[in-house]
Parts: sequence; C-alpha cells; structure tokens
Amino acid sequence: MAVALQAMVDIARFRVLLEGERDRKYALLKALRQDIGSVSASRKNSNVDDEHDPEGSTIAFELSQASALMEQSRAGLEQIEGALERISDGSYGVCVVCGAAIPEGRLEARPWTPFCIDHASGRR
Ligand SMILES: [Zn+2]
Repeated sequence: MAVALQAMVDIARFRVLLEGERDRKYALLKALRQDIGSVSASRKNSNVDDEHDPEGSTIAFELSQASALMEQSRAGLEQIEGALERISDGSYGVCVVCGAAIPEGRLEARPWTPFCIDHASGRR
C-alpha cells in the first residue's frame, strides 16, 4: 500500500477533477460522433465532388477537423481513465518511470499525468 505517498496530495480532489474532465470528454466525443455521422450522411446524399466543388472541400475540411478533435479527445480520455485507475490502485501522483512524487502544482495543471517533470519531456 502506498499510503504514505497518497497522503502527499489531495487525491479526492483530483479524482473529482478527473471525473469531471472524463464526463466532458465523453460528451464531446458523443457530439463529435453525431456531427461526423450527419456530415458524412449528407455528403453521401448530395453526391458532391470533393476535389472540385468548393462546398465539398469545406465539408471535407470540417470532417478532418472533427476527426482530429475526436482523436485528441480519445487520447485524452485514455490518459484520464489511466489516472483514475492509478487512483484506485494507490499509485496516483507518482511518476511511473522513477517513482518520484509528482509535484502537486503539476498535477493541478495536468491531473492525468503519469510522469514527473523530468520524465515528461516528449510525452503528454
Ligand atoms: Zn520520473
């Protein structure tokens, strides 16, 4: 049990933060899926030539924006789920690489991070 480590940060508060963020991401993903679904459907029905029709390329652009946002949200959601799992198993707030406590100020900014500042470079 990592009781001593858990006592260093206010886990309950971060759990609330993470759960709120997770709910927001779920809602966003759901809305994006619906958007993409309806744009794709109307695109199929209208028989638009993407390459040459200006409206077609706008739709294609919107679709790619929405897909990119969806990818981002999905990746963020995975990080959040991971953090909530670490809260459950008692390893939250500790770097997964070196085992050092992650400073509370950093958790404040990124409650889902599994890395200390030293090991965060090049990762999110
Ligand atoms: Zn580390």
